[in-house]
Amino acid sequence: MENYCIICREETNSFSDEHVIPDALGGYYHIYTVCKDCNSDLGLRVDSKLVNHQFSHFQRYLLGLRGKSGKLPNPFSGIHQFAEDEGKKVQLRLGEDGKPTPYTITNVSYEESEAGDGGTKVSICIDASDEKNWMGYFRKYQKNYISQSTNSKA
Ligand SMILES: [Zn+2]
Repeated sequence: MENYCIICREETNSFSDEHVIPDALGGYYHIYTVCKDCNSDLGLRVDSKLVNHQFSHFQRYLLGLRGKSGKLPNPFSGIHQFAEDEGKKVQLRLGEDGKPTPYTITNVSYEESEAGDGGTKVSICIDASDEKNWMGYFRKYQKNYISQSTNSKA
C-alpha cells in the first residue's frame, strides 16, 4: 500500500516533491506521495490557475511574494479609465519598490516641419516616462506616415 499515488491510486516508484500549497503562494508543506505524472498534471491544471488568479495576485502583492522571476505580480494590471472622463486612460505600474505608480496613457503626437536642408523635421510628443522608448514611436511614425505618403504618390 506504500507505493500508491494518493491522486491516481496507481502503483508506482516514481514519486516527486509535491508542494501542497504552491511555492509562489508561500507554501512550504511538501508531500512525497504523489507520482510525477500527477504532480505535473496538478501543476498545469491547478497550481498555475491558482497562482495566476486575480485574488492570488492581490494576496501575493500584499505579502510580498515574488515569483521565480523575482517580480511581484501586479494586481492592478490592465488599462483603467476614469468615470468622469472615459477618454483618459491610466495604468498602475509597479515600481522597483513594488509601489503602484499611475501612468497616464497619452496619445502620441507627431509634428512635421521643414528642415533647412529641404528634408522634413519630425517632432514626437510622448509621455516623459516613455522617453526611453522614443525609437519605437519613431519606427511607428516611419511605418504609418512615410508608407502612406509613398503610397499616395504612386
Ligand atoms: Zn498519480
